[in-house]
Amino acid sequence: MAYVITQRCCKDASCISECPVDCIRPTPDQAEYATAEILHIDPATCIDCGSCVPPCPVDAIFSEDDLIAPLRRYADINADYYDKHPLQPDITSPLPAVRRVPATGRKLRVAIVGAGPAASYAVEALLRRADAEIDVIEKLPTPGGLVRAGVAPDHPDTKRIIEVFDSTHTAAGVQRYFNVTVGEHISQAELLDHHHAVIYAVGTATDHRTGVPGEELPGSRSATEFVAWYNGHPDCADNEYDLTGDRAVIIGNGNVALDVARILTADPADLAITDISPPALEALRNSMIREVVLLGRRTPVHAAYTSTEFLALAYLPNVDVVIDESALVLDPISRSLLDDPTAAFKYALTAEYAATPTGSGSRRIEFRYLLSPVAYYGHGQVERVKFVHNEIRLVDGAHVAEPTGRTGSIETSLVLRSVGYRAQPIRDLPFDTRRAVVPNEQGRVIDSNRQPLRGLYVTGWVKRGAQGVIGTNRFDAEETVEHLVTDFLAGALAPPAGNRTAFAELLATRRPQYIDETGWHAIDSAERAAGQANGCPRVKFTDTGTILDIAAHKEVDYPATT
Ligand code: SF4
Repeated sequence: MAYVITQRCCKDASCISECPVDCIRPTPDQAEYATAEILHIDPATCIDCGSCVPPCPVDAIFSEDDLIAPLRRYADINADYYDKHPLQPDITSPLPAVRRVPATGRKLRVAIVGAGPAASYAVEALLRRADAEIDVIEKLPTPGGLVRAGVAPDHPDTKRIIEVFDSTHTAAGVQRYFNVTVGEHISQAELLDHHHAVIYAVGTATDHRTGVPGEELPGSRSATEFVAWYNGHPDCADNEYDLTGDRAVIIGNGNVALDVARILTADPADLAITDISPPALEALRNSMIREVVLLGRRTPVHAAYTSTEFLALAYLPNVDVVIDESALVLDPISRSLLDDPTAAFKYALTAEYAATPTGSGSRRIEFRYLLSPVAYYGHGQVERVKFVHNEIRLVDGAHVAEPTGRTGSIETSLVLRSVGYRAQPIRDLPFDTRRAVVPNEQGRVIDSNRQPLRGLYVTGWVKRGAQGVIGTNRFDAEETVEHLVTDFLAGALAPPAGNRTAFAELLATRRPQYIDETGWHAIDSAERAAGQANGCPRVKFTDTGTILDIAAHKEVDYPATT
């Protein structure tokens, strides 16, 4: 028997250093780490000690004997990885050696903009290196970033990583200020007046557009906003969606598209025991949507979803996963990808879905491939998506979907585009509009002459683009912070004029409604209490006024979900 890493692995690699026999791969310094969907335990080497279980922040590791049906296949998935990547006993630490700031001398002061995973891992990386003073500034009234507002409510274990992040922030030297917008309530120059450095970890605020005619029609919406809506993001909580039709079409087939498809086809009774936003739950209770069709521009072996999320669809209650067997016919260019184990597994899963009889579920999720939208039509509301069939061409070594001229269409009253997140320009920082990132060299922000801008750093999606999973941010932050500390020790950072007290006083003047750690704990407690009363983990408050009242310890009415 062995332990097994399963679907929700966040790849933050906390487990690796705990394993006494060093049998968890890939490690972050291996080339395979970048493309691996999850980490794996070598069953031939595992001694079944369980040491890797407690440090996993998302409870993704189980004894083989305890695997429930949807996860049993992961025993084979872990073992298969080692068939193709024999264990090399050459790795001892998932994190690089760090350069520590001596306890004597100047205290390093850093402002971090953002309070999601990238910011939290930056805090952790700083605390590993220095007895630093860290001020975290977040524009939303609550922390968590995309863990709170992006991870689907039916993935509660993934959301538990917020508790790990919260414990990091209770360290001495860390102060968090929520409901404060940098560039509005406080400027970058003022942050640098009070800190040696500023790390921007703001993530990506919007989505890519498809750019096809009719995209602006009512009923054609962003999947990013839809996700924010059902997760209770204050900016989107009041959104309204027309769910009166029986079919939704999603443009794209990444994990966000799969999240949206699951939520649209889920039984509302199952969603009621999650932390889904109450208005979204109510809307979904009244939804008439019975079918979700995902249009992918390339083949099943190119699909953007991870095989773990794709596999999990097979266990959705009362939902048919529908794939026509014609999707299995690959052109020679695409077929060459089958040498890649991840692509080969996606293909194998596609074949399983195509061979599985359908018709038993009351709802269905259908995958169609090699299709791109070319126009949306409708009278005052989207009614039909016209698409073109693609073929795969090899262009400069890349597999490119090119239109064939053969078209078709599908009727729908709701189109959600899910073709990737995109960062927005940040005030007082350069911006690469093509890549939608802040130009940087390993985290140091650079100008148009590729010279570092003193005291300015980035981490997370705004540094590398919208790719990777939660744990990817850990190693991204390590790189950025290592350079920051190097610059500090070299005397390359300007000493701040103001100290921590002066910064707190300035913020209190500029943004009296800021929420501190005490306020967040009041919000957290109130949401959990409301959840307990409603049989779910938490009920999110979405109205900023209500959140401010709770943070100020005032009595409020709790929204009900049942
Ligand atoms: Fe390593 Fe023990 Fe986890 Fe097996 S159970 S992977 S030996 S830490």
